[in-house]
Amino acid sequence: MAMTHASRPSATALNPTLYAFLQHKFRDVRFANQGSSAVVQRIQDPLNPKRTLTNAQQWGEYYCVCCPFCNDVGNKLWINYLYGADYNPKSGRRTDTHLAICYKNNCIESPERREQLEDLIFGPGRHLLAKVPIQAGDTTIGPQQISVPGKIVNLLELADTAPAVEYLTGRNFDIELLTNVFGVGVCTEPYPQYRLMRGRIYIPSYFNQQLVAWQGRLPTTQKVDMKYYTAGSKSRTLYNYDLACRQECVVIVEGAPSVWRLGAIGVSLFGKTLSSWQENTITTTWTGKPVFVVLDKGEEAAIEKATMQLCRHNLQVIPVLMPDERDPADYSKQDLRDLLLAAADSVGVSVTLSSLR
Ligand SMILES: [Zn+2]
Repeated sequence: MAMTHASRPSATALNPTLYAFLQHKFRDVRFANQGSSAVVQRIQDPLNPKRTLTNAQQWGEYYCVCCPFCNDVGNKLWINYLYGADYNPKSGRRTDTHLAICYKNNCIESPERREQLEDLIFGPGRHLLAKVPIQAGDTTIGPQQISVPGKIVNLLELADTAPAVEYLTGRNFDIELLTNVFGVGVCTEPYPQYRLMRGRIYIPSYFNQQLVAWQGRLPTTQKVDMKYYTAGSKSRTLYNYDLACRQECVVIVEGAPSVWRLGAIGVSLFGKTLSSWQENTITTTWTGKPVFVVLDKGEEAAIEKATMQLCRHNLQVIPVLMPDERDPADYSKQDLRDLLLAAADSVGVSVTLSSLR
């Protein structure tokens, strides 16, 4: 995302009105991602089917000004062209004012600051401004999209005695949650190239609604070879991203079962190392927010490495060492919550984890 000097008139900005307001207030306005529109989709909230969510693959053009809250002189306050897109007569405020970020000190995080910035930019005439339509554009299908391994049967359609159901309920997982939120099933008739998937628990991994990877887990607690069979790019996926990206914090773990225990706030890496794609995605999704790094017992070096990678960015990184041989999936929600809260407390980060109850 290169910033360019604003040598052009505001007419070339995607949102000339906002651009003109910013130029009036801040004088020095630069562009980032000039000319590129947001790519957003409207999707159904998997936890609340009555609600739709806006899911952005990219937010497009930004106007970069010097942040008035932290003596910034480097144009570190980035304001998206969709900032303040509409007026809400109920609240008397513009909408989409969360689309601004101070990359110096994360100044615009609190609701009070957002209102201050909104007042500064639009002033009392905010209700007179026209609406900027947010277009739900077509998301281009990335090269990493893959196909399912064969016929997948829903867990809820299987008998309680089916190996996958026995295994998952034996580990105290909620079958309905796995089915409805995580799309977990069983591969009953694999395509010939995926014959090893037969009878495995199918664990799809989506990124912006596209299937980018999947895993097949053998439904057994025994130590076996190839317990997991994986397809797709492990380094370009974060399991459960689509749900986690809307949360106030994130917990990075190693495998899908730990995410099932954590629920909405968990993502897993499909391994112990953080690829640059994953690092970048985490950094831009949870900017300024608490990011827990939890890897299994004995992985101290891997935790340290991932923590170092993330600490270079504007995130509140919280490394978590598991106290025994169990991985997060083996804990109760309450115990996991206590563990995470204690780790956050030890590095002085305050977080509520209200979803983990
Ligand atoms: Zn600032």
